[in-house]
Amino acid sequence: MPVGEARSRILAEVRPLPAERCGLDECAGRVLAQDVISDISIPMLDNSAMDGYAVRSAETSAASPDNPVTLRITGELQAGAARLALSVGEGCAIRIMTGAPIPAGANAVIRFEDTSESAGVVSLYAPVRPGDNIRRSGEDVMRGAVVLRKGDMVRSADVGMLASVNAQCVLVSRKPVVAVISTGDEVVEPGEELLPGQVRNSNAYTLVSELRACGCVPRYLGIVSDSREATERVMREAMQCDVLITTGGVSMGRYDFVKDAIADLGVAISIQNIRMKPGKPCVFGTKDPLLFFGLPGNPVSTMVSFIQFVRPALLKLMGASRIHKPVVSAILCEEISKKAGRMHFLRGMLTVQNGEFFVSTTGPQGSGILRSMSAASCLILLPEDTTRVPAGGKVMIQLIQHEEI
Ligand code: AMP
Ligand code: MG
Repeated sequence: MPVGEARSRILAEVRPLPAERCGLDECAGRVLAQDVISDISIPMLDNSAMDGYAVRSAETSAASPDNPVTLRITGELQAGAARLALSVGEGCAIRIMTGAPIPAGANAVIRFEDTSESAGVVSLYAPVRPGDNIRRSGEDVMRGAVVLRKGDMVRSADVGMLASVNAQCVLVSRKPVVAVISTGDEVVEPGEELLPGQVRNSNAYTLVSELRACGCVPRYLGIVSDSREATERVMREAMQCDVLITTGGVSMGRYDFVKDAIADLGVAISIQNIRMKPGKPCVFGTKDPLLFFGLPGNPVSTMVSFIQFVRPALLKLMGASRIHKPVVSAILCEEISKKAGRMHFLRGMLTVQNGEFFVSTTGPQGSGILRSMSAASCLILLPEDTTRVPAGGKVMIQLIQHEEI
């Protein structure tokens, strides 16, 4: 099965989790399960965008440095002041601070920098037009407007938006609880002695960190040995979770028991053998409502298949309306060749030169070589039919790390 088809079939099986209430302090990184509507206009009142004087703009039209217009100052307004009974009469101005409401009669604010003041009189050295330096009521948000939508992932600016509209408690989708199991007789935990032939468990740690980063609750269940019984026993503990991810044990080896064990637990495997490299042995199945992903054990295969299939599924489970990593085009800095038949994902490093994206590989591309994944900021996507792209050719890249460059 091609990658795109596998992804859409997986996503078709995912239904968003139910909603729960969440306070303002906790909602960053959660996905809204409701539209958020403002019951006020922001700003509430027309107010000053500058420190200066509220004036009638028509009276300022002749003002210049050589020929200042003078106005009598009849009051002062600071931010937070109620509008009081202040109004700007003919030949008058009111001293006004940023954020203070525009008094009746005034239709512009002239900034302090274009004036001087002495003995209750202000001299204006420049004209202002109607509306200058005034922030209009509702220019940010109109009363009744939808400020955030169901399916939006709440970012910092959104938390500020929620605070602005007094949404102290909003509906968000419940966080998916995701079980992670590593498999392999040769796999040992960090901190344990490493005997010849053993490998440290990296997969569980990359996965748990990815899961946290996308807003899930990871439940790490440890390393299970290569036995059908042991695998089934540990997997059984995960059946109450929303999602189960295993790594390793899905290939054709004599000790690869994950598929048998998960089938014994009643999970129907609907996808396997995906035309991709790395990640071909990746399997997906469901036992409603559980989603099961059996990722291959090689550390890069684990990560690439997580990014292609698991992450978008988790985001959909969380109710997110945007679930895909961006794909953009870039200029390839080195020649690449491959066999036709599978889609390849190469680890790439993105650079920007004169505003254009350039990409080079991060080194050896074996599926066990985690270093080149750790150095990558993108994946270079080479379609099934592609056999060669010359240096200077165009490729599509998937951005996997949005970092400063
Ligand atoms: P498998 O998919 O079980 O055949 O494993 C493929 C390769 O990935 C083997 O060389 C394993 O040693 C390695 N591997 C499996 N699980 C892990 C893990 N949790 N962390 C690091 N490497 C692993
Ligand atoms: Mg194994």
